[in-house]
Amino acid sequence: MMMLFSPPAPIVAQTSEGMGFPVRRLFCIGRNYAAHAREMGSDPTREPPFFFTKWAEAVVPGGGTIAYPPETANYHYEAELVVAIGKGGRDIAPADAASHIYGYAAGLDMTRRDLQFAARDKGRPWDTGKNVEQSAPLGIIHPASATGALVSGRITLTLNGQIRQDGDLSDMIWSVDEVIAYVSRFYRLEPGDLIYTGTPAGVGAVVPGDEIVVTIAGLSPCAVKVGPKADV
Ligand code: MN
Repeated sequence: MMMLFSPPAPIVAQTSEGMGFPVRRLFCIGRNYAAHAREMGSDPTREPPFFFTKWAEAVVPGGGTIAYPPETANYHYEAELVVAIGKGGRDIAPADAASHIYGYAAGLDMTRRDLQFAARDKGRPWDTGKNVEQSAPLGIIHPASATGALVSGRITLTLNGQIRQDGDLSDMIWSVDEVIAYVSRFYRLEPGDLIYTGTPAGVGAVVPGDEIVVTIAGLSPCAVKVGPKADV
């Protein structure tokens, strides 16, 4: 059949073995570190986890420049461990979750905090606060076969060379395996899906010209520069 227009090019992340990882969907876990939940004004109990989604188009490779998006005056960084799903499944048991992981990367869940809070306070969807173009920078994906299961390890974010977030993966309220199990109750996970697993305390705003670097022990760093405002 003749196409009315060209389909978009697939979003492809890169692995440490030089392979392309076609990105399908992004699931992002909220408030998964107790200290961050507290700084967001929440009680960090083990309530069931929750998540929101982003389009694959939000992914941009680390190493480049991301736009400062329109309609915000409070664009925040959130350093996150990203889990890359390599094998699909529904209703995955936590004990089986590791077999569905292709690998791990350092990433960012950039957030229009002003819009997220306005939506939260009115009980409205978070889409405009979270599902933002170029808001999910992603470092190189390292296969789990090389790293082993990442259940602990330092995660940091530096802004213009200064440490702003400094946590440990072992501080997650819900483990990677539990998060995979939870998301797979609602959606059949597919190869190419990415799970952004939440951020430690210390989130804050960026301005054009800022340089952000996320490091996670055992993974390549994810570094991006914040470009000029997209609407000027
Ligand atoms: Mn987040």
